[in-house]
Amino acid sequence: MELWITEQQNENVNFSCRVKKTIYSEKTDFQEIEILETEYFGRMMILDGVIQTTAFDEFIYHEMIVHVPMFTHPEPQKVLVIGGGDGGSVREIIRHSGLVKVDWIDIDGKVIEACKKYLPEWNHMIQDSPVVELQIRDGLAHMKESHGQYDVIVVDCSDPVGPGELLFRYDFYKDISGALKEDGLFVQQTESPFYHRDLIRRIQKDVGSLFPITRLYTANIPTYPSGLHCFTIGSKKYEPSKPSVARVPDFETRCYSIETHRASFLLPKYVKELVE
Ligand code: SAM
Repeated sequence: MELWITEQQNENVNFSCRVKKTIYSEKTDFQEIEILETEYFGRMMILDGVIQTTAFDEFIYHEMIVHVPMFTHPEPQKVLVIGGGDGGSVREIIRHSGLVKVDWIDIDGKVIEACKKYLPEWNHMIQDSPVVELQIRDGLAHMKESHGQYDVIVVDCSDPVGPGELLFRYDFYKDISGALKEDGLFVQQTESPFYHRDLIRRIQKDVGSLFPITRLYTANIPTYPSGLHCFTIGSKKYEPSKPSVARVPDFETRCYSIETHRASFLLPKYVKELVE
């Protein structure tokens, strides 16, 4: 019998792919986790029916969500990741030199455990890193207790439903601003410029009212809804579209470069409309 997984992307659009087998599935206190082996995209992790990451294109998402803010800041030493339970964002952060501490906060320890076991490539080197400290707790609570301590914050959250819903709200952005140093910046994945236009507009407005510099950039990620994905940056000092030329990647990347960094801020008119 043929096995397919179908993600409902909106009330009129589904995305399907053929599955070889289910590797793991569990309902936790927060969400339903599935890890599948798919024919075309390789290993895939799904939370509450929504594709989170696949072996096929995770490098694009993780390199672009991490290296754009990390190379905007001239000297990121203290970094925070909210979410990112698969490990991919932390894996990319620890490739930067000069780090003092990486706090990693995810609400669901079961996601972390399952991904460590079944998605080892996403977790490469994390266990050996002396700077990473993982805490299983709600990112909202952590933000409320953090004050002026981070250079870069990466919000690698799931969609604005379920446990991630409040991570897309004004109050959370306000707490992020309070948790950053006076020249800090944050990034958040902010969904599709085709399917989530009202959400993106609202985020732009909220972040724009709290940060002197607010920017949107995009990357093509084939397994995410519509293929084009947005990221929003709120920055207190540094201009994200102009990466720090003093620091360039001294490690191998497959998507990120200083050129893709700059180009990711060149928005087509239909996306630019969302930020004007
Ligand atoms: N790259 C993915 C995407 O955009 O589809 C996001 C990946 S990552 C797996 C999302 C993580 O956010 C999950 O591990 C989930 O447990 C975590 N998460 C959701 N709500 C959270 C919260 N309130 N605090 C901390 N982590 C949260």
